[in-house]
Amino acid sequence: MDCNNNACIDLHIHSTASDGTFSPAEILALAQDLNLAAIAITDHDTINGSKEALGIGVSPPLKFLTGVEISASPPPSFSYSGSLHILGYSIKIDNPLLNKTLAALQGARKNRNPGIIDRLNSMGVAISMDELSNEVGGAQLGRPHIARLMVKKGYVESIQEAFDKYLGKGKPAYVDKYRLDCSMAIEVILGAGGIPVIAHPFLLNPRNIGDIEELVITLKAMGLKGIEVYYPEHSQDNISKLEDIANRHGLLMTGGTDFHGSLKPEIKMGSGRGDFCVPYILYERLMENR
Ligand code: AMP
Ligand code: ZN
Ligand code: FE
Ligand code: FE
Repeated sequence: MDCNNNACIDLHIHSTASDGTFSPAEILALAQDLNLAAIAITDHDTINGSKEALGIGVSPPLKFLTGVEISASPPPSFSYSGSLHILGYSIKIDNPLLNKTLAALQGARKNRNPGIIDRLNSMGVAISMDELSNEVGGAQLGRPHIARLMVKKGYVESIQEAFDKYLGKGKPAYVDKYRLDCSMAIEVILGAGGIPVIAHPFLLNPRNIGDIEELVITLKAMGLKGIEVYYPEHSQDNISKLEDIANRHGLLMTGGTDFHGSLKPEIKMGSGRGDFCVPYILYERLMENR
């Protein structure tokens, strides 16, 4: 989408609280430098990044939304193999059920990592949990961190190669993890006063538009409020189809780059691969419809 030099926003950003490489403070500073009008920090299954940003304080004119990206399981009648990610915006970060639920998801992530390491070890990739923890520090460990260590130790040339050969879904070192049922993910976000939005629908598999629309209808009945329409991996054709679905079903539209810093080096905050821009009006609509 072209914003014709109007202010852009980025409502999908990962910080060091999950698998981004920029701290919340660095994200706020970069957003100011880039003259972004509004951002949200949406870490995987944690709101620690958003909490930290609020603690630091956000200087006007930049607007900040608390956020989270929950890994959910699809409704039982849908056989999706990609991850169904539910974004939650403008959540109250001290909500007890939200915090309890995210703590359980963080536990599941921790339990998964040794399994991935075991599989890698049995394939001749010599990486230990200690080594990984030392690399990552206090952040929540995810597959991109494992991929980065594999690059560093020379087992693969790139993070993408690590996913393609070892870590991606269906690859030999892939280990599934517990996911929150999508209806619970939506309920927990709503319960924390937040706005639940389906993330990057075209990363789901199958990704035909009929299936996506059916999924959206099912999730709307559970309380879904929006669709992440604008996303660097979405083609213009995909975007048009998602705009149409959002309009016909009365859903909000959001967008963001899924910025991960050097763990997704081709994606820049606010501008994706260069010409990406999510218009500020979408932030205003999101705020009006809270
Ligand atoms: P995790 O939280 O450990 O499941 O890792 C999720 C992150 O891994 C996502 O944010 C993506 O950036 C990245 N990722 C997942 N699948 C792939 C893939 N096939 N290729 C490259 N990156 C991926
Ligand atoms: Zn990520
Ligand atoms: Fe995602
Ligand atoms: Fe993401």
